[in-house]
Amino acid sequence: MRNAMNYDPSTCLDVDRARAQTPGCAHVLHFNNAGASLPCESVLHAVRAHLELESRIGGYEAEAQAQIAVEHTYDAFARLLGCAREEIALVENATRAWDMAFYSLRFAPGDRILIGHAEYASNVIAFLQVAQRTGAQVDVVPDDASGQIDLAALERMIDERVRLIALTHIPTNSGLVNPAAAVGAIARRAAVPFLLDACQSVGQLPVDVETLGCDMLSGTGRKFLRGPRGTGFLYVRRQWIERLEPPFLDLQAAQWIEPASFEVRRDARRFETWESYVAGRIGLGVAVDYALSWGLDNIAQRVTALGARLRAQLRDLPGITVHDAGQVHCGIVTFTRAGEPAVAVLQRLRAAGINVSITNPGHARLNPGPCGSVPLVRASVHYYNTDEEIDRFCAVLADR
Ligand SMILES: *Cc1c(COP(=O)(O)O)cnc(C)c1O
Repeated sequence: MRNAMNYDPSTCLDVDRARAQTPGCAHVLHFNNAGASLPCESVLHAVRAHLELESRIGGYEAEAQAQIAVEHTYDAFARLLGCAREEIALVENATRAWDMAFYSLRFAPGDRILIGHAEYASNVIAFLQVAQRTGAQVDVVPDDASGQIDLAALERMIDERVRLIALTHIPTNSGLVNPAAAVGAIARRAAVPFLLDACQSVGQLPVDVETLGCDMLSGTGRKFLRGPRGTGFLYVRRQWIERLEPPFLDLQAAQWIEPASFEVRRDARRFETWESYVAGRIGLGVAVDYALSWGLDNIAQRVTALGARLRAQLRDLPGITVHDAGQVHCGIVTFTRAGEPAVAVLQRLRAAGINVSITNPGHARLNPGPCGSVPLVRASVHYYNTDEEIDRFCAVLADR
């Protein structure tokens, strides 16, 4: 029998089953899904089983035995993102995935890179480094009145010197969902490559590379996908793969064919390295299958609804200010509490068995809003969270 309270009919999502399959739900109230989600037991089992196999028969031998499971991860991502398996590279995290795409692009003095205000800090550091090295110019597209990327301004900024449009779909520090598909349409019309940081959106929302019109997309395993830490992935559109020479190559990415020559692989694995976290790759594939088994539309609906509920309840609490931008909001909710610094809130919640994280204003220097000036509390929900958890969270928060 299903518990009527925890079966969400609007999304066909059996929350009790999701929680029963998530061991951590019995131990913590986890609102740090934008940091690292709680893995489900099948992911945990897959990773642990492979580590055990490695310890029993040896790492190379275990990898050979697990070939099908490892290869399956590429198919799982192809299904998840709506692309071909040859367009997927598996790497150690989202930052390196993004770097492998970005540092493969060539820029000359005067070339322009258009970016959004919500760009991830590591990405901005990379833009600045490459601009310093090459003489390319980084131009920040303004936000519109709602706080998302201004599409009309982006359109106006396009000229023949623009070599790249880069966008963070969902920033690390707010509930904003940028209109990535509209940016993709503009990039296509202008025939400019579009690099999308989808680190917080993959696993939280349906992310389809055709709908979004992106040519490169990066993401991580541990966040809303609920995969193992130390895993990441890169999608590169087929037409772009052979035009992007990776900043470094190894004997996986390229073949040494004669004493003085080499050939770079023709698929997206040119962005990979030979050595990898095999157990993590297997677990990541299991996590993708698990997300697909719920349905990304169902997940998105539930996460969005929980996020909206959390925002509404927080707004009703005295002294709480929720910091949202844009027109579409997701399961990440950032807020401040008058008279209590974010780090104190985090510590107080942790003592009550509640996980949140705090944002670093030094990582949001392009952001004119509060997330660029003070640390915010970040509470991020996933589909296995419940209304009761939101109630408890708000009660603990207000109890001081
Ligand atoms: C977390 C995050 C990253 C970096 O992901 P890693 O897996 O830690 O490298 C990149 N972009 C955004 C928007 C993020 O939130």
